[in-house]
Formats: sequence, structure tokens, C-alpha cells
Amino acid sequence: MQYKIPRGTFDILPSESHRWQKVISTFRETALSFGYEEIVTPIFEQVELFERSSGESSDIIQKEMYRFQDKKERWLALRPEGTAPVVRSYLENHMEAGARINKLYYIGPMFRYDRPQAGRYRQFYQYGAECIGSHHPFYDAEIISLQTTFLNRLGLKDIKLEINSVGCPNCSKDYDKALIDYFSPHIEELCPDCQNRLKTKPRRLLDCKVPHCKSIAGKAPSMLDYLDAECRKHFEQVQDYLKLMNIPYDINPRIVRGLDYYTHTAFEFLNPALGAQNAISGGGRYDGLFNQIGGKDIPAVGIAGGFERLLLSLETEMIDLGGKAKPDAYLVLVGEEARKKGTKLLADMRQSGFSVIYDPEKESFKAQLKAADNQSARYALIIGEDEIARGIVTVKNLQTGEQQEIDADEVSELV
Ligand SMILES: [Zn+2]
Ligand SMILES: [Zn+2]
Repeated sequence: MQYKIPRGTFDILPSESHRWQKVISTFRETALSFGYEEIVTPIFEQVELFERSSGESSDIIQKEMYRFQDKKERWLALRPEGTAPVVRSYLENHMEAGARINKLYYIGPMFRYDRPQAGRYRQFYQYGAECIGSHHPFYDAEIISLQTTFLNRLGLKDIKLEINSVGCPNCSKDYDKALIDYFSPHIEELCPDCQNRLKTKPRRLLDCKVPHCKSIAGKAPSMLDYLDAECRKHFEQVQDYLKLMNIPYDINPRIVRGLDYYTHTAFEFLNPALGAQNAISGGGRYDGLFNQIGGKDIPAVGIAGGFERLLLSLETEMIDLGGKAKPDAYLVLVGEEARKKGTKLLADMRQSGFSVIYDPEKESFKAQLKAADNQSARYALIIGEDEIARGIVTVKNLQTGEQQEIDADEVSELV
């Protein structure tokens, strides 16, 4: 029997993994430089956590979540997204008692039983950051800046930022009413999903991808005209900070969030070159989520992005993330005594933190030196009979061809 990888998943092969490493380490470094600390949560949680946070009627919960029962018949779900587990952990560990503001980031696989298509997988990898504990508009801008800085550090150029405000429950009421008034005369023309949405969450009609719904939605009233004074002020302050941080943006009133706990700022980063699926990350403020999950009023703002589309963006812009790591040295050992001495040197050097390669199946001097070249090692460390007799190692700089003889005990200082 030949085993196959499950549909909708992929292996990250060695030829690809260095690119992943680079993107992950760049995100990590950027997040750390903004004062964010890593949080790691399990890949499965109680089903109810996601039902609470995403809403039982949402597509994620209805169709896409992997759920299973364990031996004690507890219902668990593979996490479809990263924010709810962070909120759960924050509340469970009383993180609000430790610090007024907690800035957290995470990296890891998420799972959705989705129809596999270009750039979309059933196990996919996300990074995210959550700033928990402040309502201040500075943090909305800061989390956007975190993403901008990350993308800049990767070298991406063709990126657009679109922002919006989805208001608060107070101004949302008027807006939802305006949307119902606007869409109701068109109800027969809308897709079945939108007909439902009109009753439950009218603003999700603005999200529909069906062309006819889209064209009707094009003339729908804008949320921005319904913001109350406080929400308008928050949105203006976020924009002021973005300007001070020198971050270009467009306002797109069509960025909506279907769930009640989203408030104020909503934003998306787009790469126009990716075509229809061009969003590479998004986020916003979710001041209502903590209340929904844990009955506490704790404001927060966050971002999440997928690595797959980010890597696609890097590919379209032909950004080189560097290749395989090059070893510091390659050992060229000829003869039995050299094999013993060299193996010890290999262990010592690795212990001291050097990357050193040796291949005992290549015996001739020529074959080993060629391998050192192929691996792009910086130095070849040569030990043969002559070197053994004199207690030295010949160090060959493989870039310049320059050769040096040094005392066997001092090799690690040179490399
Ligand atoms: Zn409001
Ligand atoms: Zn529709």
C-alpha cells in the first residue's frame, strides 16, 4: 500500500523549509521588537470555545471545523483560528492581573475543512498578534504598523492597506437598519445565503462574492456615514497615528466583520498581484469578544495572516529569501588516524556552535574536497598523514583558495 498525504494538506520539504524559516523568524523578530511575546496554545480546544467566539451559525462552525470526540466523549475541535485560544488562555491564566496591557503573538497550524483551492488548505499556517487591555487608538495603529514593518522587512513592495471602522454596537444598530431598508427591495435577486444574512447579519451581505449580490451591494449605504461621535473620533485618531507612523492606507467602507464583537478599526493587507484571493492578512479591534467568551469587558485589537499567501506574494515579487544555510566548515579526513582525530574535532566544534559537515563514505581527498565545494562550506579542514605527524590541520579558505597550517588545538578559533 502506498500512503498519500491527506487532501488539502502539504509537506514543507527541505527545499522549501528555509523560506518558511526565514518568514517565521522575520515575524518573530518584528513582533519582539514591538514588545510582543509569544504564546503557544494547544492545536485543539473545547468545541464550545469556537462556537462562542465565531457564532454557531457561522460557516466556520457549521461546515468547516474539524470536530471529534475523545475517549471520555468530550467534544473537541482542531482550532480553526488563533484568537479564541489566546483569549481563553488569557482569561484562564488571569493575565489581566499581571499587566495592564498584554501584547502576545502566536505562530502555528490552523485547520478548516474547506474546499481545497489555490493557496487554501485544510491545514494552514498562521501568524497573529493580539494587543489586549487597551482601547487606545494608538494600539490599533501599532498593530497595523507591526504588520507593515514585517512585510517591509521581508522586502514586499506591492502591498496595499485598506482600513475601515465598523463602529460599536450603538452605531451598528442604525447601520444594520439602513442596510435592511436598502437590500429588502432586492431580496428576490439575492443569493440564498444573502437572503438569510438579511435576517441575521445584514452587513455580511457586503461580503458576498456572488457577482449579482456584489453589484447590488456596491450602492449600499456606507458604515462611515453611521458612526457616532465617539466611533468617528476613534477612527480619526487611528488615522492620525498611521500618518505619524508614515503608513499609507486607503479607506474601504466595504471591509466588514460579520460578528458582533468586532468594533471600531477593521483592516486588510492586500497584494493585488494575487488576483481574486488577494488578502494576505487582516484584523481589527474586537472589544466585545472577551465579554462573549468570559463575561469581562477587556478591549483588544489583533491581526492574523497566513503564511501560504505570504510566500506566494514573495514568489510573485521574486524576492529571494536566501538558500540553504552554508556550513562553516567541511572536514576532509584521509587515513585512519585522521578519521579518529577529525571525528573528535567535529564533535568539539559542533559543541562550540559551529556548523561542520563530514561524510565518512567519501574516502578520497578529491571527493571530499569536491563535496566541501558543493556544500558551499567556508573552509575545508584537511587532516591527512602529514598533518597527523605534525599535529596540525590545514585550513583552506574555499572562497579565496588560500591555505594555512594551524595547530590542531586552535582550529575552532580560526573558523
Ligand atoms: Zn459607535
Ligand atoms: Zn449573496
